[in-house]
Amino acid sequence: AEETAKGGALPFESPEIRFTKLFINGCFVDAVSGRTFETRDPRTGDVIATVAEGDKEDVDLAVKAARDAFDHGEWPRMSGSERGRIMTRFADLVERHGGELAALESLDAGKHPGVTRAVDIGNAAGSLRYFAGAADKIHGETLKMGRQLQGYTLREPLGVAGLIIPWNFPTTMFGIKVAPALAAGCTVVVKPAEQTPLSALYLADLAKQAGIPDGVINVVPGFGPTAGAAIASHMNVDMVSFTGSTEVGRLIMDASARSNLKPVYLELGGKSPLIIFDDADLDMAVELAVSANFFNKGEACVAASRVYVQEGIYDRFEKKLAERMKSWVVGDPLNDPRVDQGPQVDKAQYEKVLSYIDHGKREGATLLTGGKPCGQKGYYIEPTVFTNVKEDMIIAKEEIFGPVMCLMKFKTVEEAIAKANATTFGLGAGVVTRDLDVANRVVRSVRAGVVWVNCYFAVSSDCPFGGRKMSGFGKDEGMHALDKFLAVKSVVTPLRGSPW
Ligand code: ADP
Repeated sequence: AEETAKGGALPFESPEIRFTKLFINGCFVDAVSGRTFETRDPRTGDVIATVAEGDKEDVDLAVKAARDAFDHGEWPRMSGSERGRIMTRFADLVERHGGELAALESLDAGKHPGVTRAVDIGNAAGSLRYFAGAADKIHGETLKMGRQLQGYTLREPLGVAGLIIPWNFPTTMFGIKVAPALAAGCTVVVKPAEQTPLSALYLADLAKQAGIPDGVINVVPGFGPTAGAAIASHMNVDMVSFTGSTEVGRLIMDASARSNLKPVYLELGGKSPLIIFDDADLDMAVELAVSANFFNKGEACVAASRVYVQEGIYDRFEKKLAERMKSWVVGDPLNDPRVDQGPQVDKAQYEKVLSYIDHGKREGATLLTGGKPCGQKGYYIEPTVFTNVKEDMIIAKEEIFGPVMCLMKFKTVEEAIAKANATTFGLGAGVVTRDLDVANRVVRSVRAGVVWVNCYFAVSSDCPFGGRKMSGFGKDEGMHALDKFLAVKSVVTPLRGSPW
């Protein structure tokens, strides 16, 4: 097979689809209702597989399995190093089966197999390894409480974790949410997105092969308002970690408030700014703006969909960007080695992105490139750059979640910072400059969960990821992620001779 520029092997061989049922208590089972739903190939809209459709009854069974595994099973009770050893085996299997997993994921989500293998699979395995190493380093504190008392804290696994994940990076999301939960000693119920259920089921099988006991990981594919909502409102789920839209984030918090007040952590939408100063290396800045917007077809919560360019280089930047986009290829990422951008994940997203593009046109923004669907079939959209964008236009305010960039101009550092912060979101931000002082000013002033200086999208297992404001709260990745799955218990004992 020919290795493509993007690292994928051609011709693409469709993977065998072995797992299409719910994974509960270590077994693949049909939904209680017997219902199934279809998952489609976004290149054509054709059905890839029919998958068991979990609903409330199935979530109940999955939660029961997770509860039993937590209350009576060995996972929370074994030593951290033993959990770490099993998690490392899981990471090894994810890497060993990386090709097949990447093929499955690419088919289900319209992604590049090569990029998927490197990025999605790499991140998932990396996260499992990172938290495997953390599993035996979970310590409490000792407290000197005064003359008559002594105390210490225990950090205990919280219990059953509900993990609700999106469709844009399914394998990565599975990895980064499941890994800290496992390290902490929690048991989990995962709900993959209805658009991309296949990789989570495949991963569940690998987890079993790795020796993760039955009931520790359960996977319930299904729809948000049914299966997802059942997890969020379940009285026996002890916490929820969610990645998805701001709108659904609200529903999840509401469901928690109305049920058992489980803590929820939300990684939501964004409208992240990329600020490019006059002194930037122009080629590098253009490349960053392109990848920060069009990587993964713009289906990234942290995409830099607001690009602010300082007035001194604005015109040259615009020209270079238009030139650069001429060699950007949209097409079938599974069968054409030159392709940079595949189809949007499904019809609904495709239509949503196109309607935002229409809004932009109607509001009076100018199209520098793109602006139309493309291809004979499937959900392809031209990479689209709007100029003459005003801050109060819908395209500048709302998350589009597709290949649409808004290009805007600024004069001073203060103006750039004010504009960057003039959003309800606070997920990511980027700054491109050679001036350390300017970079530091932006870094300190911008309200975001991550700021990338002269790079974008750089992530790793030890780098906390998660936003502020209406982009949510709580971190995936890094040691902060572990805290979400641990409860702190204070223990107090009297000293000998005290009146207690
Ligand atoms: P998007 O708009 O990008 O599809 P969503 O926030 O709708 O993102 O979906 C992210 C995840 O949340 C998916 O797994 C989806 O099924 C789930 N979900 C959607 N609605 C709800 C809900 N009401 N309660 C719980 N989960 C939901």
